[in-house]
Amino acid sequence: MRDIALYHGEGHGWIEVVTGVMFSGKSEEMIRRVRRALIARRRVQVFKSALDVRYAGVMRISSHNGAEVDAVPVRNSREVLEQAHPDTRVFAVDEVQFLDEGIVDVIQLLADRGARVIVAGIDMDFRGEPFGPMGRLLAVAETVDKLHAICVRCGNPATRNQRLVNGEPAPYEAPVIQVGGHEAYEARCRRCHEVPSATRDQTSLLDALGAGAEHAVVLTHESLRRPA
Ligand code: ADP
Ligand code: ZN
Repeated sequence: MRDIALYHGEGHGWIEVVTGVMFSGKSEEMIRRVRRALIARRRVQVFKSALDVRYAGVMRISSHNGAEVDAVPVRNSREVLEQAHPDTRVFAVDEVQFLDEGIVDVIQLLADRGARVIVAGIDMDFRGEPFGPMGRLLAVAETVDKLHAICVRCGNPATRNQRLVNGEPAPYEAPVIQVGGHEAYEARCRRCHEVPSATRDQTSLLDALGAGAEHAVVLTHESLRRPA
């Protein structure tokens, strides 16, 4: 992984996003970066969404030089802002896809104040669509590392979260947030990812593309018109 700290001077803040499908190693990578910050004797604060009950309670990250930091569960972006200490040099937020949209402004504020902010989260929900605030975070971050897992079907790099209900693909209309592990989710590639839908079909997608194409033609004609 690139080390952006090499290119930034003291007092410069920035945002690093570590993203990808479930089981792609986002938490491992975030912990690796936090450990290195601890070794560098930086003041570090770690937050994680309280929604993920699989890891209920406090997670402690420690380094061989005896420095350690607890990952504090938070329910929303306001709690991150309230607990953020002005002297903290490095912030890390895990499972950020579960937090509200306000987290984008909070993270921008922390970076503007000069902190390094490491954010880890799932990029797409089980339908393959941007997950909560992740789309905007990917846009405003200085660096983005998109990790892949292994597709459990074909062994290729996995980018999609396959949600399963009793072993069958969950329908598109199911609620977006449903916390789970291996029993409810599989890492899959684009080809093996399945999202059955009763209401969305290929025809409506083609219609939408057709309408978009017409619009594009009109725009092109307008923009080609020379001023008189
Ligand atoms: P994330 O935070 O992205 O969900 P974790 O850091 O919690 O990922 O876990 C990553 C670990 O998950 C890997 O090191 C590997 O041991 C394990 N793992 C389980 N299933 C898979 C898979 N399908 N592809 C890759 N790694 C997997
Ligand atoms: Zn596959």
